Amino acid sequence: MSELPIKIKKTPHSRLSEIDFDHLAFGEQFSDHMLEVRYSEGRWHDPLILPYGQIPMYPAVSTLHYGQAVFEGMKAYQYKGDKVNIFRLDKHYDRFRRSCERVCIPEIAEDVFKEGMKALVEIDRQWVPKEKLKSLYIRPIVFASDQTLGLRASGNYRFYIICSPVGNYYSEGIKPIRLTTMPKYVRAVLGGVGDVKVPGNYAASLQPTTKAQQLGYTQVLWLDAIEHRYVEEVGSMNIFFVIGDVLVTPPLNGSILPGITRKTVLELAKKNGMTVQERPVSMQEVVDFHRKGTLKEIFGAGTAAVISPVGVIHHDNYQITIGSDEMGPVARWFYDNITGIQHGEVEDPDSWCTLL
Ligand SMILES: *Cc1c(COP(=O)(O)O)cnc(C)c1O
Repeated sequence: MSELPIKIKKTPHSRLSEIDFDHLAFGEQFSDHMLEVRYSEGRWHDPLILPYGQIPMYPAVSTLHYGQAVFEGMKAYQYKGDKVNIFRLDKHYDRFRRSCERVCIPEIAEDVFKEGMKALVEIDRQWVPKEKLKSLYIRPIVFASDQTLGLRASGNYRFYIICSPVGNYYSEGIKPIRLTTMPKYVRAVLGGVGDVKVPGNYAASLQPTTKAQQLGYTQVLWLDAIEHRYVEEVGSMNIFFVIGDVLVTPPLNGSILPGITRKTVLELAKKNGMTVQERPVSMQEVVDFHRKGTLKEIFGAGTAAVISPVGVIHHDNYQITIGSDEMGPVARWFYDNITGIQHGEVEDPDSWCTLL
């Protein structure tokens, strides 16, 4: 067991029996407990696990004004029936630490993040859905809690981990989604914060995403901020193209979020002898490959959506329609293998699973 001094205050009233596990929306319901760690006087204090509930704060709390905050998104899965697996915990911690560094949030110790999360998931393990392809979404968040309107790095912070039992991310399920590029809008610029998980990125995407949805698309396909020619990613997923028999994805150039599902796809592809290219992909190129008939599949990859086939990309005056109403064979292969590893049905090749 860990040496971490975690105080635990259990809820006297579990809400588990109120949850309809057959109809889970994404991120609408929360498990019985949460983890809280406070930072003041130059240090993080002992973690506390307490009943999920409201947290007191003042309207002058600086994160509400200037967004000095970071989050992560990861999942725990039912594993071989009786175990629980937190997937790629190390990589999520690494990214969390990098994100914190970028917005001047003091580093949270690795064991507080990892052991704290494990203790929380252990206490709420009945909340991990039993059914395959459902999971317990884990959301760590840290934010500045100084009361000040001064624009500076805060002296006080709060770190929480909350958990939400989830089903499919998109209402389409695993049916193909529809994307459109949005001229005039960008998600992230080089040198900005597109490569870290900070809240402002998502606020900035709401207006263009709403417009895209009014036009009948599921999400925006973001292009590069300078030339508006190169494909970057989709709001909460990285993007992959199958061109001939080559798997192509844009490189981590500094404005794309380095997805852990992206990394998982690339590692599995290489292990299985697939040809992989991380290189800039222009929309013109995608259109040309589509015209020639060599564009076989498009799919997105992210923790929330796992692998999500793309059926339509709209760009300028061109609409690419690809595949049938189902996942293509390459996307399906990744989907089956990744969900298989997550649930313990396919061998875990590289210690991606943390078992409880
Ligand atoms: C979280 C996120 C992803 C996917 O990352 P995963 O680690 O695979 O979940 C992709 N793009 C953006 C903008 C994200 O916030």
